[in-house]
Amino acid sequence: MIRQAKGKTPRRPPPKKPSNNQKDPVGVYCRVRPLGAEDEECCIEVISNTTIQLHAPDGLKANRNGEFKETQYSFKKVFGIKTTQRELFEDVAKPLVEDLIHCKNGLLFTYGVTGSGKTYTMTGSPGQGGLLPRSLDMIFNSIGPYQAKRYVFKPDDKNGMEVQNQVDALLDRQKRDSQTAVPKTPTARRVDPEFADMISPEEACKADGVDEDSSYSVFVSYIEIYNNYIYDLLEETPFDPIKPKPPQSKILREDQNHNMYVAGCTEVEVKSTEEAFEVFWRGQKKRRIANTQLNRESSRSHSVFIIKLAQAPLDADGDNVLQDKNQVNVSQLCLVDLAGSERTSRTRAEGSRLREAGNINQSLMTLRTCIEVLRENQMCGTNKMVPYRDSKVTHLFKNYFDGEGKVRMVVCVNPKADDYEETLLVMRFAEMTQEVEVARPVDRPICGFAAGRRQRNQAFKEELTRRLEERGGPLDGESPTVLNQLLQSFPSLPPCEISGPNDDVTLPRLIEALEKRHKIRQMMIEEYNKTANMLKSVLQEQDSNLLSKDNFIQEQRGKLGEKDKMLQNQKNEIDRLEKKSKMLEYKIDILQKTTNIYEEDKRSLQQELESREQRLQREVSEKRRMETRMQGIVTDAKLKWEKECERRVNAKQLEMQNKLWVKDEKLKQLKAIVTEGKSENRQPQRPSREKDKVPAKRSASPSPVPTGPPVRPLHRRSHSAGGERWVDHKPTTNVDLDTVLQPNIPKAIKVNAPNEKALSKCDKYLLTHQEVASDGEIQTKLIKGEVFKTRGGGQSVQFTDIETLKQENPVAAGRKRRSSETGPDGETMEGDWTDVETRCSVAVEMRAGSNLGPGYQHHGYPKRRKP
Ligand code: ADP
Ligand code: MG
Repeated sequence: MIRQAKGKTPRRPPPKKPSNNQKDPVGVYCRVRPLGAEDEECCIEVISNTTIQLHAPDGLKANRNGEFKETQYSFKKVFGIKTTQRELFEDVAKPLVEDLIHCKNGLLFTYGVTGSGKTYTMTGSPGQGGLLPRSLDMIFNSIGPYQAKRYVFKPDDKNGMEVQNQVDALLDRQKRDSQTAVPKTPTARRVDPEFADMISPEEACKADGVDEDSSYSVFVSYIEIYNNYIYDLLEETPFDPIKPKPPQSKILREDQNHNMYVAGCTEVEVKSTEEAFEVFWRGQKKRRIANTQLNRESSRSHSVFIIKLAQAPLDADGDNVLQDKNQVNVSQLCLVDLAGSERTSRTRAEGSRLREAGNINQSLMTLRTCIEVLRENQMCGTNKMVPYRDSKVTHLFKNYFDGEGKVRMVVCVNPKADDYEETLLVMRFAEMTQEVEVARPVDRPICGFAAGRRQRNQAFKEELTRRLEERGGPLDGESPTVLNQLLQSFPSLPPCEISGPNDDVTLPRLIEALEKRHKIRQMMIEEYNKTANMLKSVLQEQDSNLLSKDNFIQEQRGKLGEKDKMLQNQKNEIDRLEKKSKMLEYKIDILQKTTNIYEEDKRSLQQELESREQRLQREVSEKRRMETRMQGIVTDAKLKWEKECERRVNAKQLEMQNKLWVKDEKLKQLKAIVTEGKSENRQPQRPSREKDKVPAKRSASPSPVPTGPPVRPLHRRSHSAGGERWVDHKPTTNVDLDTVLQPNIPKAIKVNAPNEKALSKCDKYLLTHQEVASDGEIQTKLIKGEVFKTRGGGQSVQFTDIETLKQENPVAAGRKRRSSETGPDGETMEGDWTDVETRCSVAVEMRAGSNLGPGYQHHGYPKRRKP
């Protein structure tokens, strides 16, 4: 038979094979359960179908000064409180079941704090079946018609599966039937109300592309890992009510393909969803009982439900499972309900339970560490050892992370405020897990038989039955049609009616004919065999052709995959570059704007600079103008002052000359007196007396130089008391000296400052002037003058005489005698020096309207003012 031509290639490729290096990140989903009570504080908000946002609860905010912010976490998908179990299944578990049926492994676990809905998600509740019952249902819906008979597949206790021959399988089946008096009809079975309605038939799901040329069998195992011990929940232990045996823990082993498995773990073959779920429920009950008996906390244990699917190709006839262990394919889906992820402090565990809790915590810690190391290895290209062996949970699933199957995780969260801090930790773990990539499981090559064997066989059988029925069926004693036709092609039998016992004609003739027929038959058989062999070889050839073509297609697929990956990479690169270019464009935009602003600034600054420069220019020219003007003024002033100085110098010179002349005169007079005294008492004569008697009116003359000898005012005093009117000028600065001798002038007009009006009314002027004499005493001079009318309509005063009043301390006076006081009476003495003074006859002219009076500047000698 063709069976000999089956491929000897092992179906299960050697470990560490991955021929493709495509990787997928661990699929992490998030499910938010509804709050227990509606008025509870909620700290989670679903903000999109991939993102949730955590808000710190009010109490916590107050505790930490409100420094808490909202944090967002993204997942492959987020399922809000309204998500139905079915929706979750469709997204999360359905692809894993499809993979299972297509010979790929899968691992699905629920992670979260106790009470967050892990068990609800995995197992569900009556009417709300979770991922587990739904997965089972989908498997049986898909492989239902193609299931092998019970015990055809048999676990080999080394994590493998072998195919029993039909007889052994039949014997096993009979044994089972006799042992368990199970009612044959499922309808008669009582369904446990605890898990009734877990699966509703209207929500049935089915995988596509089930290989119909294979035969399938489902095996389930259910284990619990508590305190880092593995317990088999399906183990049948004879119940001893007197001395209940404590459960025995199991160990982990590695099979020949380096996959981990629980050694000696019960694997129950199940043929329907109900049966499978019943087995699960049995384990669940056992778990509960054990927890109660041993006072354990169920939230502290991990439960692992393993669904194994064995499949093997049908033989070439499409009748039976191929009796070849190498052709058996086993894939498994592990559904793990992990222990609560909260820290020990939350459960008020004590003593040994605290230790246990620590251990359970330890296994989740190890899971976290493994994920961290995996992520680090992948991100940094390092090759750090992943500590899978540190706990049973991670050790059992290490192959998954090494690329033996898809890994998915449902992170369950309860939005209540109490869980906030633990939920934060869960979120961080989940985020990290998403970054781990797991090698994509490869497609396994299929057995080298022509496809559609089951159908072909079925069709053939149907056709045969049909034809048999057409002819009334073989049961009527008639030969079937094919046989008839064949028989017709044989030489007809001679009449075989034997005439008598000695009929030696008929019998030999019959024998001859039969022998002839026999020969023909032999020939036909030979012919048939020949043709059959030929056909077989042709078929084999075609089979191998097909196989090579398949291989070729496989190869091409691989290449296509690579190309796809390349394409994907390039797309990613393009995406990255696009993002970068957008970023750069944005930056350019910003820079452009900044440049514009700067240019604007520059322009305005330039304008300001220009205006300032203009102002400066203006100021400079202004300054120049000012300078020239000032220079002009300075030159003018200089000139003026030079002239003034010259004038004053001249005046001084004149004055000095005058004084010199006066001294000369005195000297002459002295000489004359001396000479007279010597001769007969001659009267002293003054040569220019006549000229003095008539003082010239010099109102307009700038020069005070006297033209003749000075006036002798002593003679005037005699007629001074006539009808003349005086201006008595006493400056307010004068000091009252309390003197006895005071000028007494009748009808005088008394003024403090001379004015034109007073001058015009009078013809005499008297100025009382005080000064300090050389001996330190104050002396008062009475300066007298005559008032003239000027041609310009003003008044001018010509000083004519000075009288001096002087007080003396009698003591000091005795000692200090002036050399000139030689005369016997004061008159001579007075006249002596007054005479000199009076020679400075000075004319002061006052202009009409001028407020400068002659007394304006009184010094030791009269001063002439320039008009
Ligand atoms: P865990 O296994 O994480 O400790 P459970 O699955 O036992 O939590 O959930 C605790 C309770 O909350 C159960 O009564 C469960 O029915 C309920 N629950 C959890 N998730 C949901 C959900 N998504 N919708 C409705 N009820 C839920
Ligand atoms: Mg639970």
